[in-house]
Amino acid sequence: MTTLHEVKDANSKIAKEYVNEVFETVIARNPFESEFHQAAKEIFDSLIPVFIKHPHYIDQNILERMVEPERVISFRVPWIDDQGKVQVNRGFRVQFNSAIGPYKGGVRFHPSVNAGIIKFLGFEQIFKNSLTGLPIGGGKGGADFDPKGKSDGEIMRFTQSFMTELYRYIGPDIDVPAGDIGVGAREIGFMYGQYKRIRGGFEAGVLTGKGLGYGGSLARTEATGYGTVYFVEEMLKDRGQSFKGSTVVVSGSGNVSIYAMEKAMQLGAKVVACSDSNGYIYDQNGINLDTVKRLKEVERKRIKEYVAEHPGALYFEGCSGIWSIPCDIALPCATQNEIDEAAAKILVANGVIAVGEGANMPSTLDAIDVFLKNKVLFGPAKAANAGGVAVSALEMSQNSMRLSWTFDEVDAKLHKIMENIYRNCVKAADEYGHPGNLVVGANIAGFLRVADAMIVQGVI
Ligand code: NDP
Repeated sequence: MTTLHEVKDANSKIAKEYVNEVFETVIARNPFESEFHQAAKEIFDSLIPVFIKHPHYIDQNILERMVEPERVISFRVPWIDDQGKVQVNRGFRVQFNSAIGPYKGGVRFHPSVNAGIIKFLGFEQIFKNSLTGLPIGGGKGGADFDPKGKSDGEIMRFTQSFMTELYRYIGPDIDVPAGDIGVGAREIGFMYGQYKRIRGGFEAGVLTGKGLGYGGSLARTEATGYGTVYFVEEMLKDRGQSFKGSTVVVSGSGNVSIYAMEKAMQLGAKVVACSDSNGYIYDQNGINLDTVKRLKEVERKRIKEYVAEHPGALYFEGCSGIWSIPCDIALPCATQNEIDEAAAKILVANGVIAVGEGANMPSTLDAIDVFLKNKVLFGPAKAANAGGVAVSALEMSQNSMRLSWTFDEVDAKLHKIMENIYRNCVKAADEYGHPGNLVVGANIAGFLRVADAMIVQGVI
C-alpha cells in the first residue's frame, strides 16, 4: 500500500519537474532577457508548495499560460530634438494579464529599457496588483529614452509621440498606465493631454498619477514610499520593534525614495543616506529632506549638490557603496539588482534588522538568500511597494465616481491595504510551510487569486 509520505514525495517530484519544464520554455522563448528569467525563477520556485498541494493547477498548465504575456506591443517613437534633428526611440507596452481587471502598471523612460525589462516588470505587476485585493490586472510599458539633460520641450515632444502610438491600446477599462522611473507628474500630464486630443473626450480613468487639478488622487505621489514604510512597520511590529530611533539608509532620490524617507522620518527614524544614479550622500546628522526635494523635484539637479548646502555631509561617486553604511533598516528604492550578494552580506555584518524593497527587484536572488538565512526581516517588492498601484486603483475609483477623497481618507485606505497585504503574505507563507518567508508568501497569495480567476474563465 502506498503511504501518505510516498504520495507527498511523488507530488513534490511532479511539481518540481513541472516548474523546471516551464522555466526552460521561458528561457527558450525569451532568450537574452535575464531580468525576466530572474523574476520568473523567483516566482516559480515559490509556487512549488502550491502545486504539491493543488495539482489541478498543473493539469491546467496554469504557469505556462501565466508567464506568456497576453500581448506585447513594440513601436517606433520618432521625435524632434531642440537642434531640429529627428530622433527615434523604441516604445513598449506589455499587456500581461487581465484576469482580475484591466491591465495596470507604470511606464518607464530609461536608456536601459528593453523587452526583457518590461516583461520582468509586467510579470511582477500581475502578482503585486493581485495582492492589493483590488480589481487590476498586470501590465507595464516604457521606452529606451533618456530624459536626463532633455529640455521640457524635448520631453513633451517625445511623450506626445509616445502617446500618439500608445493611445490605441489603452483605455479606462482596457489598460491604465501610470508613472515609473523617469515618468512623473510632468510626463503623465503631457501623456494625458495628448490622449485627450486624440480621443476627443475627457477619460480621466485612462492614466493614474495625474495632477490634482485634472483627476489625480491626493496621496498618490506619496503612496509607494509611504506604503513601503507601512509594510516594514508591520514586519517590525511583529518583532516588537519600530522605526523610532532607528538609522535608515534609502537608495535613490526619486519619487519612491523621497516619500519613503519622509514617512520613515515621521515615524522617528534618522535617514542618513540616499543616492542617484551617479553617487550617494551620507549625512550622519540625518538627511535634510527639504533640500533633497528641492534639488530633485524642482531643480532636477544631481544629488551631489546636497553637500554644498550641508557641509557636514559627504558625497561618494558610484551607487553600490551606499550599502556599506551601517543601518538598522535598508530601503532600496532606486532600481533592479542594486543589492547583490556582497552588498547583502555587508548589510548583515553591519547589523541590519529589516530590508523593505521600494524599488522593483532591487535585490538579486543571492542577496535575498543572504537576508532570509540571516533572519533579516525582508519585505519583497511586490508586496512592500504595492502601495503605489493600490492608490492608483483608488484614483481610478474616484475618477469613476467623479469625486475626490481627502488626503487622510486615501492615506488611511493605503495604510489598511498595506496591513492586509502583510497579513495575507504571512498567512500564505505559514499555510504553505514557509513561516516568515514573505517572498514565498507574497508570490503564493498573489498567484492564487489570478490563477483561480483564469481557470473559471476557461482556457485563456
Ligand atoms: P524616479 O525616476 O522618480 O527615481 C528613480 C531614482 O533611482 C532616481 O534617484 C534615479 O537616479 C535612481 N536610479 C535610476 N536608475 C538607477 C540606476 N541604474 N542606478 C542607480 N540609481 C538609479 O523613479 P521611481 O522612484 O518612481 O521608481 C524607483 C523604483 O521604484 C523603480 O524600481 C520603480 O519600478 C519602483 N516603483 C515605483 C513606483 C511608483 O509609484 N513610482 C511603484 C512601484 C515601484 P537619477 O536621478 O540619477 O536618475
